[in-house]
Amino acid sequence: MKATMNHTLEHEESLVAAGRGKWSQSGVPHRGWRCVDIEDLGEPQVQCEMCESQTIRFIHHMEHPNYSEVLEVGCICAGHMEGDISAARIRETSMKNRAGRRKRWLTRKWRISAKGNPWLRADGYRITVYERGGGWAATISSEDNSSVQHSRRNYNTQDKAKLAAFDHITRLQPSSDP
Ligand SMILES: [Zn+2]
Repeated sequence: MKATMNHTLEHEESLVAAGRGKWSQSGVPHRGWRCVDIEDLGEPQVQCEMCESQTIRFIHHMEHPNYSEVLEVGCICAGHMEGDISAARIRETSMKNRAGRRKRWLTRKWRISAKGNPWLRADGYRITVYERGGGWAATISSEDNSSVQHSRRNYNTQDKAKLAAFDHITRLQPSSDP
């Protein structure tokens, strides 16, 4: 597993060096990007939108003030885009370490709130999912109520909203899990 992952990272590094995909396309900024989300697809299944070559499992969602779209990219492309390879690696490693917990996330004991919404307490947060705009959204509140965050998009199933909330919490605590 580890060898496979390192191989993936080395391969994407060579794709960046070779200027594949958007790395050689004019009008696409090469630095100054910011990671706004990270997602685990469970297995490699989509193509990195930056090098347009690497098949990726962990999607780093990257945003840039001078580019209209959020790009879904692999670890190494993300690292180069934000100018910090180790930050991207730490993010991805933390996500990988939490993969086991993520598998069990949906079968944990979700309680039902007074409004009929499933909720769960985990890692110092209270996570609630609820119907919004014909789909499902998630709210993540810190236990002390100092912060409340709502998912930006709606998901077509309750499970997807729950998993998105899990991934968001993972991103909030990049180095908490060994
Ligand atoms: Zn890439």
